[in-house]
Amino acid sequence: MKFVRFKDKHQQQLRQGILTDGEIKEISGNMFHKWDYTGEHFSQEEVDLAAPLEPNQVIGIGANYVAKKEDLPEKGPDMPVFFFKPNSSVIGPGESIQLPETIDEVKFESELAVVIGKEAASIREEEVFDYIFGYTVANDVTAPQYFHEDGHWTLGKSFDTFTPLGPVIETEFDADSAEIQAVHNGEKKQDSPTNLMIVTTQRMIAYLSNVMTLKPGDVILTGSPVGAEFLKENDEIECKIAGIGSLKNKVVKIKQPSQV
Ligand code: MG
Repeated sequence: MKFVRFKDKHQQQLRQGILTDGEIKEISGNMFHKWDYTGEHFSQEEVDLAAPLEPNQVIGIGANYVAKKEDLPEKGPDMPVFFFKPNSSVIGPGESIQLPETIDEVKFESELAVVIGKEAASIREEEVFDYIFGYTVANDVTAPQYFHEDGHWTLGKSFDTFTPLGPVIETEFDADSAEIQAVHNGEKKQDSPTNLMIVTTQRMIAYLSNVMTLKPGDVILTGSPVGAEFLKENDEIECKIAGIGSLKNKVVKIKQPSQV
């Protein structure tokens, strides 16, 4: 099932629904617990899709792909590198990635994003799939210019608009055989299967759940394949995963002066 959030072009009210073959059936309620069809339906053409959820929180993992199978380490890191991204950085398909006045270019990072559906505390790797609601596509936009020399990444990951998500949350998806791609101004730059991840989805979610209780609506960005490059003003970036969809965003520059 493909869960979406959308605005109809006239009322601009944020609604949620299920997308099937270009048609959206509106739902009401909480997609993680109990929801019902409202009876209203829309053609996908007559709406603007929004980010498919307002995350409870967004957590990313750093440097998680190798270029080829032979490069996979026998054992992943004992303590993976995780970071948080603020909810205020989330935008949806078609919205603009805004470059602050102080930054001329930012990195795109096409990623598989996991949406947690059930509270998960201290779970084991083999239990992880029971706690996953579905998957979406993320662009973990990053300004390395704001990585602190002491190693903190938070600022460089946190500017408004730096976390495009969408277009849908797909609940029936085989994450183990997914292909993560990015197309930059029409040219393919990233294209890797998820079996090139160093820390598997199962391990990262089990690990995190042993540190913090994960909640419905938590979004875990599972890392970006090799090939991520820089975006400039007026560029278009498309992050896509077959079976979930295509997440396209344009880059604009904010003209007002910045204090950072
Ligand atoms: Mg990333």
